[in-house]
Amino acid sequence: MDPRAYRVRSACAALFAAVLASGCFNSPTPLAPGLHGTVGVPNRGVLTESAELPVRGPGFVRFRPQSTHYFGRPRLVRALKSAAADVARLAPGGAPLSIGDLSAKTGGRIPGHDSHRSGRDVDLLFLVTTPAGASLPSPGFVRFEGDGLARVDNSPDYVRLDVDRQWLLLRSLLTSPEIGVQFMFVCREIEALLIDHARALGEPDSLVWQAETVMLEPSDSLRHDDHVHLRIACSPEEAVAGCSGGGPRWQWLPPSDPVRPLEAQDWDQIAKDDPFDLATLDANQPTAEARGF
Ligand SMILES: [Zn+2]
Repeated sequence: MDPRAYRVRSACAALFAAVLASGCFNSPTPLAPGLHGTVGVPNRGVLTESAELPVRGPGFVRFRPQSTHYFGRPRLVRALKSAAADVARLAPGGAPLSIGDLSAKTGGRIPGHDSHRSGRDVDLLFLVTTPAGASLPSPGFVRFEGDGLARVDNSPDYVRLDVDRQWLLLRSLLTSPEIGVQFMFVCREIEALLIDHARALGEPDSLVWQAETVMLEPSDSLRHDDHVHLRIACSPEEAVAGCSGGGPRWQWLPPSDPVRPLEAQDWDQIAKDDPFDLATLDANQPTAEARGF
């Protein structure tokens, strides 16, 4: 073999081995120092700089207190705490929101989920009452029918969806300054109950439309009649650092690309700052004598 071709092949093989050793292109590595935070898509991503949801706080408890899958983007954790506190403040005296899995501390696959890998997903159990309307702690993942009732497993008891407080929770998350809601995966019957309720309250059309847009019954996974799966959208800054995918870019969210195309005046400005421009150097730099050489 021609020695030059051999050297090129060896260099390619070494590069390929380095890429393999680094894991993959979508992971933060010394070879990809710009990737951090929520990296990749929700069902194939990882997570750095995560925050942990406490075991309990005003208006919420963890469904699995001892689990290690309560990490997410710090802004998601803040938004959850804030939304739970809003519900407790606006409808006091009710049972706390029970919060299911978020992600592992460094993301990646966790049992029982395809997504939840990049710190942007969380399962929220439904807020419930007795059939007569008294608030109750969540009995767990119980499946609701279109009438808003669910039979509690291994029990003759039924619980009712607390439509009033569930709407307050949804509204707080939708209007949170911390997050943009990408999706709330939930079955159609519960979406209908919540939207009917919002319209009866006279909520603004734009808010009701946003709620209708983000609520979705998935066609390729569980119906989500026993919990809501919340996914937040990438922020523009996260998108630059590797966050991607997970759903359409809703028109009310900030554009995902914070870098605008360069315009003529930008190029002029760049040309003005050219460090090798002799005219600029002559005008601005002190002479050799002035610098004491
Ligand atoms: Zn989920």
